[in-house]
Amino acid sequence: MADNNVKEIKDLIKIVSKLPGLGPKSAKRIVLKLINNREELIKPLTNTLAKVYKNVVRCITCGNLKSTNASCVCSNNKYDQICVVENIADMWAIQGSGIYKGHYHILGGTLPSFESKNTENGLLIESLVNRVKKNSVKEVILATSASIEGETTAHYISDSLKDTKARITRLAKGVPVGGEIEFLDDGTLFSAFKNRGPIVSG
Ligand SMILES: [Zn+2]
Repeated sequence: MADNNVKEIKDLIKIVSKLPGLGPKSAKRIVLKLINNREELIKPLTNTLAKVYKNVVRCITCGNLKSTNASCVCSNNKYDQICVVENIADMWAIQGSGIYKGHYHILGGTLPSFESKNTENGLLIESLVNRVKKNSVKEVILATSASIEGETTAHYISDSLKDTKARITRLAKGVPVGGEIEFLDDGTLFSAFKNRGPIVSG
């Protein structure tokens, strides 16, 4: 298997080993499992991947994943709280902790810490401001990471929202410096949410 000459297999191993948490060794094990289960695994996986590729897109308003055939959760009903995160993995971590049940806004990254503050780099900040205004949102919880970039982004967003009526809060400092939300345990997330407060300038 390791020295397989079949190009298709080599290619597949190469792709699979790019997935998070997988090296070449586990990629080979996965590929072998797939090949030994053509009907039960390869076929449904191929179909499902094709459907995901075709039908799942990122919502240009809130950054969440949505089906091309349905409207996004962000266009449903009214809501008065939005939690702002850097990426979908962070949102899933917060959802998994059960601490927050409201709406999300997924920026798609952070602002660079060093450049001028005008480079939004495709981050969904303008659409966040629009959502907050349109829904008369009462609280925006900034759950960006505790890195320099995360802090820069939080302050930039806070500035962008200063003409709205929303209260801007930031997760408590329980989040370790440089810590990414995705990797926090539920207990840390819980206390960071519970003890959230006004964003501190500076
Ligand atoms: Zn949306």
